[in-house]
Amino acid sequence: MTLPMERHVLVVFPHPDDEAFGVSGTIATYVKQGIPVTYACLTLGEMGRNLGNPPFATRETLPQIRKEELLASAKAMGVTDLRMMGLRDKTVEFEDDEKMVEMMENLIADTNPSLVITFYPNYAVHPDHDATGRAMIRAIRRMPEEARPTIMHLLFQMIPRKL
Ligand SMILES: [Zn+2]
Repeated sequence: MTLPMERHVLVVFPHPDDEAFGVSGTIATYVKQGIPVTYACLTLGEMGRNLGNPPFATRETLPQIRKEELLASAKAMGVTDLRMMGLRDKTVEFEDDEKMVEMMENLIADTNPSLVITFYPNYAVHPDHDATGRAMIRAIRRMPEEARPTIMHLLFQMIPRKL
């Protein structure tokens, strides 16, 4: 499969693994086509509740484990520009709106993307997902229309089925 050419693809999600279950094939395809991809991951997912049974991690060791998983995921997709943005898991929705928008603006200024991949607010299941998508939309809306990158939203759908 070939995807349309892009100047630079900027991927922004709040948790390690959001990229993996959402768009890893897309990201790997862009990388294979030689398009620069930046993945900015806002937190280390350190509030994840499932520590296994028997537990493979503690509350203290979880951030390090998830960081290693994130690095491994980036490597598997071929992403070399991985940015860990240092926010706290489960608190992205409580971050100052303006601080979040500024973070997105800085990422856009830094990478000059033609395509941004992030969550679709209100349809993204987790409050951190919604907050991330919302901040990105605000940042892009502040740009002059002709300079705006295309935004590709990840969202979760309901699928009808009969049992
Ligand atoms: Zn997530």
